[in-house]
Amino acid sequence: MSEQRILILLGPPGAGKGTQASRLAAHLGLPHVATGDLFRENLSQGTALGQRAKSFMESGKLVPDELVLEMLFDRVSRPDCAGGYLLDGFPRTLPQAEALTERLAGLSVSTLSLEVPDDQLVERASGRLLCKSCSNIHHATFSPPRVAGVCDACGGELYRRKDDDPAVVRERLAVFHEQTQPMIDYYARQGSLESIDGTQSPDDVFASLLARLDAGTSAGGRA
Ligand SMILES: [Zn+2]
Repeated sequence: MSEQRILILLGPPGAGKGTQASRLAAHLGLPHVATGDLFRENLSQGTALGQRAKSFMESGKLVPDELVLEMLFDRVSRPDCAGGYLLDGFPRTLPQAEALTERLAGLSVSTLSLEVPDDQLVERASGRLLCKSCSNIHHATFSPPRVAGVCDACGGELYRRKDDDPAVVRERLAVFHEQTQPMIDYYARQGSLESIDGTQSPDDVFASLLARLDAGTSAGGRA
């Protein structure tokens, strides 16, 4: 079968979505299409789409959904996406989801939503300790350094990013929920949303994702 298999992975910031997306894409042999990468790529290569995006960004405006969709479909029209692809970071809003559904009509699409309660996301973020000297990351609760404030890997000084401050994380999550809840409701109404418990260990989250996808495939096969 030459049908395209399209996976959409949704989840709040800090839920481990990017990591799971990379792992899932590698496991299934599908390209991992992250909208953040599309922007960087089009901007750095100075493509026509990138130049249009740049003109919005330079005047302090949001890049319109249509333009993001154009970048996206420009990317997924390449040969490596012939068998399908995994979308990470798009859609984020109801209008984006509706536009995407329209473009993907008739294709096999699985929408997976990683769910982690806000309190846990705040705990995960606020415990993060970054090293000033290397790329090592500790966590105050889950992987504390042997010596407080000192990186196990290189002895560098550990610090917490301002972005990981509980108040900042809560604000970010509030914005996320406000933007995405109508979209989540929309997918749920269509009956095409698979919720995954994102509080499990990364390996168990990955196994759950695969199990849902296999269940979806065999149900489709029997139909
Ligand atoms: Zn270090």
